[in-house]
Amino acid sequence: MEKYIELLKKSEIKVTPQRLAIISSMDESGHISVKDIFEKIKVNFPSLSLATVYKNINAMLDSNFIKELKIVGLDSKYELLKEPHSHMVCKRCGDVEDIDLETNTLVSLAIEKSNYLIDESNIQLFGVCPNCQ
Ligand SMILES: [Zn+2]
Ligand SMILES: [Zn+2]
Repeated sequence: MEKYIELLKKSEIKVTPQRLAIISSMDESGHISVKDIFEKIKVNFPSLSLATVYKNINAMLDSNFIKELKIVGLDSKYELLKEPHSHMVCKRCGDVEDIDLETNTLVSLAIEKSNYLIDESNIQLFGVCPNCQ
């Protein structure tokens, strides 16, 4: 948690107990929706509302402290900012996992075929996780 307090301060985001709770729920889950964060932390913050969680998330998104993961057919999930990576999504349980894939070849191929200037790739692979198989 210490490192997150440091990071929040460095990003000039005010450190509050709610924000730390939000961050630690992301840290534990890897990828988590706003509703799930709310369910997880409301026990410790009885007066907390879903709107407050959204507000905190948006403040941290603005400071590039966390990343929104938009997944077709699911609520957006949020994760702490880390090295670029791809995602595996389970179509049965909605579980999301990080996966390191060499995407340079794919991106070069896309540039060649489209003439786009590509500066970001967000690859999501859908399937059935080991638990659901
Ligand atoms: Zn699954
Ligand atoms: Zn991820």
